[in-house]
Amino acid sequence: MGFLLLCFCTEAVYMKYKDPKQPLNVRIRDLMNRMSLEEKIGQMTQIEKHVASPQIMKKYFIGSVLSGGGSVPFPKATAADWVKMVNEIQKGSLSTRLGIPMIYGIDAVHGHNNVYKATIFPHNVGLGVTRDPQLVKRIGAATALEVRATGIPYTFAPCIAVCRDPRWGRCYESYSEDHRIVQAMTEIIPGLQGDAPANSRKGVPFVAGKTKVAACAKHFVGDGGTTKGIDENNTVIDVNGLLNIHMPAYIDSILKGVSTIMVSYSSWNGKRMHANRDLITGFLKGKLKFRGFVISDWEAIDKITEPPRANYSYSVQAGVLAGLDMIMGQENLVEFLDDLAFQVRNNIIPVSRIDDAVKRILRVKFVMGLFENPLADLSLANQLGSQEHRELAREAVRKSLVLLKNGKVTSQPVLPLPKKVAKILVAGIHADNLGYQCGGWTISWQGIGGNDLTTGTTILNAVKNTVHPSTQVVYQDNPDVNFVKSNHFSYAVVVVGEKPYAEMFGDSANLTIAEPGPSIISNVCGIVKCVVVVVSGRPVVIEPYLANIDALVAAWLPGSEGQGVADVLFGNYGFTGKLARTWFKSVDQLPMNVGDPHYDPLFPFGFGLTTVPVKS
Ligand code: BGC
Repeated sequence: MGFLLLCFCTEAVYMKYKDPKQPLNVRIRDLMNRMSLEEKIGQMTQIEKHVASPQIMKKYFIGSVLSGGGSVPFPKATAADWVKMVNEIQKGSLSTRLGIPMIYGIDAVHGHNNVYKATIFPHNVGLGVTRDPQLVKRIGAATALEVRATGIPYTFAPCIAVCRDPRWGRCYESYSEDHRIVQAMTEIIPGLQGDAPANSRKGVPFVAGKTKVAACAKHFVGDGGTTKGIDENNTVIDVNGLLNIHMPAYIDSILKGVSTIMVSYSSWNGKRMHANRDLITGFLKGKLKFRGFVISDWEAIDKITEPPRANYSYSVQAGVLAGLDMIMGQENLVEFLDDLAFQVRNNIIPVSRIDDAVKRILRVKFVMGLFENPLADLSLANQLGSQEHRELAREAVRKSLVLLKNGKVTSQPVLPLPKKVAKILVAGIHADNLGYQCGGWTISWQGIGGNDLTTGTTILNAVKNTVHPSTQVVYQDNPDVNFVKSNHFSYAVVVVGEKPYAEMFGDSANLTIAEPGPSIISNVCGIVKCVVVVVSGRPVVIEPYLANIDALVAAWLPGSEGQGVADVLFGNYGFTGKLARTWFKSVDQLPMNVGDPHYDPLFPFGFGLTTVPVKS
């Protein structure tokens, strides 16, 4: 009897889906055959960290958790804090009947930007300038290590929007107005996930183990083309325009094995993307053969109707039928689960649609080894903000700078600046504000000002680090004319720009630099020789001040390593960056992109002066 019981137990615990030696499809099929409707629907649900607990994970079989909008567990959380938190939630999932691991996702969109002491890379608007896909791939690899260091296996990046109008508050998340640059920069995907093997089937997701993360190309599709750059709005464009401008980077991403694709809040010609079955199911899954999972944006199904949540059941139905596999951000978790289950039981949503979704989610989880390694440890903790990654970020900053003007018509070039002079002025709050130089999606969703948010080097400190020890560096956040006149500065570095913002709050119709930027320029430039460095997520109004400015540099949102700015200003390296966006004269010209008729920019797409490094 004892022997019999033993045999029975051994027999019962072997489950094919748990055996990594079984082929992927066998594992998926075996697991799905065991799953109830509730277990399947749970997999399709991604909830916010503050809603998640081990009990909730277990009770509702939740498939995924996120730290949306950069929500951090608590300020200055360490890698160990994150790992502990993620593992605790994971243990809830592992304690379910089938023990399917959840997948935790976060917006690591310019480095692991929600995490204190992580390396913050330049936002995509600067990376497009570099024209260097291999650099971006290395950034992807570094980001993956830092994300994994905190126990997280999934990032909602890259944003492959083709921003056609800088008034859009997410323009800095876009590499370029030109789809070819965006396509080239999808090289970040193999950086994040690892190189898909040459013989892998088109469209099949690929993630190479514990030092890599699942990526997410977003936001499908046409997010960067909305009228007047209004966030989440309507993109009016014909099919050819959509296919030729906004779609190519998705094709590249799929070829590179991207694991997931996030749908855009925006509409295409009046139809909400989250309800667009032709594009999600027909085109993405059908024609492009994408085999990873499609994730909704945060609570985006609610916005399928106008006003949002006018008919929640309809929204659930329209979104799931359109082809959404995972639904993000269910604040009303129970309502969602009940609603979806009801619609399946009543044949409003076919079980085959649910099975398609779950199969895709499980495929990603199996492929990336989550079943074998569901719990994180601290073995990668020293990757977070490592010196090597900071050097890489600094290199990216150097290559992302664009020199727009270098000397007035009759004068000599101003840059590179000499390191040894009597006294220089560094002016403007953007020179001494790590938060401003990192921009939105840094530690908090909208970004924050200040030097305390994380670790890094401000432009001011970078200048101090770079000049000769005998050079006096004077900093003033808002100098008046008399101060400038009465001091005998050799020259000034004026740093102005935008203050941090992110989606929903970043749209700008006038694209002006933040006060008192204009008066700083007029108080300093013209009186003393000045270099203006613009820290912004997009081209801004600069034409009215240009005549007085001796040298002009676009630094975009460089991130934590401001040292890269000083490296180039003082000639340790040359300027090499070329505009990946058109710089307008006046906002009345917008939208204006390279190739448009009547193209009349202040600085055209592709423009960028160069300097030669100074031998020291
Ligand atoms: C944004 C996405 C982001 C998600 C999760 C949404 O509001 O549109 O880009 O990935 O939030 O934070």
